[in-house]
Amino acid sequence: MTTVHQTSAEPSFRESVDMMFNRAVALMDLSPGLEEKIRVCNATYTVRFGVRLRGAIHTFTGYRSVHSEHMEPVKGGIRFAPSVHQDEVEALASLMTFKCALVEAPFGGSKGGLRIDPNEWEPHELEQITRRFAYELIKRDLINPAQNVPAPDMGTGEREMAWIADQYKRMNTTDINGAACVTGKPINAGGIQGRTEATGRGVQYALREFFRYEEDKAAAGLTGTLKGKRVIVQGLGNVGYHAAKFLAQEDGALITGIIERDGALHNEAGLDVEAVHSWIKKHGGISGYPDATHQADGALLLEQECDILIPAALEGVINLSNADRIKAPLIIEAANGPVTAGADEILRDKGCVIIPDMYANAGGVTVSYFEWVKNLSHIRFGRMQRRAEEARHQLLVDELQRLDRYLGSDWSMSKDFKEKYLRGADELELVRSGLDDTMRAAYQSMRKVWHERDDVTDLRTAAFIVSISKVAMSYQAKGL
Ligand code: GLU
Repeated sequence: MTTVHQTSAEPSFRESVDMMFNRAVALMDLSPGLEEKIRVCNATYTVRFGVRLRGAIHTFTGYRSVHSEHMEPVKGGIRFAPSVHQDEVEALASLMTFKCALVEAPFGGSKGGLRIDPNEWEPHELEQITRRFAYELIKRDLINPAQNVPAPDMGTGEREMAWIADQYKRMNTTDINGAACVTGKPINAGGIQGRTEATGRGVQYALREFFRYEEDKAAAGLTGTLKGKRVIVQGLGNVGYHAAKFLAQEDGALITGIIERDGALHNEAGLDVEAVHSWIKKHGGISGYPDATHQADGALLLEQECDILIPAALEGVINLSNADRIKAPLIIEAANGPVTAGADEILRDKGCVIIPDMYANAGGVTVSYFEWVKNLSHIRFGRMQRRAEEARHQLLVDELQRLDRYLGSDWSMSKDFKEKYLRGADELELVRSGLDDTMRAAYQSMRKVWHERDDVTDLRTAAFIVSISKVAMSYQAKGL
């Protein structure tokens, strides 16, 4: 069984985020009042509601926390997990504020959670529970296209988002922008191509961008490209699965370890991500999977030698109890808060480079932003331009071919080039292009601070400085 080992000296998740925030603001020139205003969570709403199921009333507890309203709507996922509690939701809401600022998604930060084990309920029961939770939030404008826009997170996906959107529409029958009340919806309910893969795709784009800079690779003691790099992934959920799959299939990385709830798989020659994923779906866990060695206490694989470690599951998995045994020179935080403040310090001292959560997993909210814009504009991306773009490309190809005939040269365009060049971008390509551009720009803003300031020695502090400055400027513009 993979367990999160933690010592009692560890601060809570929210305290841990605050400590990281404090480290960054100490290097900034903000007034103490503004510093405090940006740090604290504006409001957390707790709801307890009953649903009659299986012949009895069951009471559920849910939260929606709003960290910062310097921009509205506020944005952030809704998590379904038995471990959900107020401290966690507030920490996650705060990370959303800085994440959105860093990638320039025009939102404040928010997060929601429902204390429930989704595996304990049948789909029709989950629908009733989700709709009831949504009802409680909608009637208080805690779900609203202009004020607060949730999205999927751990334990939720497009199915739950479709229920929430439908619930909102039932309660706001004349709101023409109703679909924009939540993102991460299925395509046939107003979603956008590429949202499901977005967070994992963003992790891939983040690593590609990191590997473009010799200086940055050198800081982690790495060289070359992603090809052949040994990667260990913790959590083969939506984020971990897509990140691992893309890195293996498209960049030639070797996924040497996969850590799941029921242990870990290890194979230095590389695991077949797709095969492991199907195995988990079929058998409910990794146990029994062939072609790998199995380790019962999965968390121990975090300490295995590799080039890149991708914690893509829970918060706090790298903490005071194991940080000094972590050997990966590069960690990319696909999950929110996987490294505690104490562990962060230990790893920094060891020279480990950490690509921080607020940047590494921002692909999800970035594509959520595109979905929200799509819903408000009521038109799919590329619908107007695609064929016009193809026609212009055709013009150029025709003209080049005419010139070729005129000059009598035997030059010709390769069929592959011609096909690729002539095809206008569809929504998925546009989404990936927007995501890639966002991930590159945000990385560049972080690395600039990391390299230009002598007092900034890590990417997390750099990320906080960039995003806190943006939030501070919004508050100042409001006259605060
Ligand atoms: N839950 C995701 C996150 O933590 C996505 C949030 C969103 O799309 O609003 O970033």
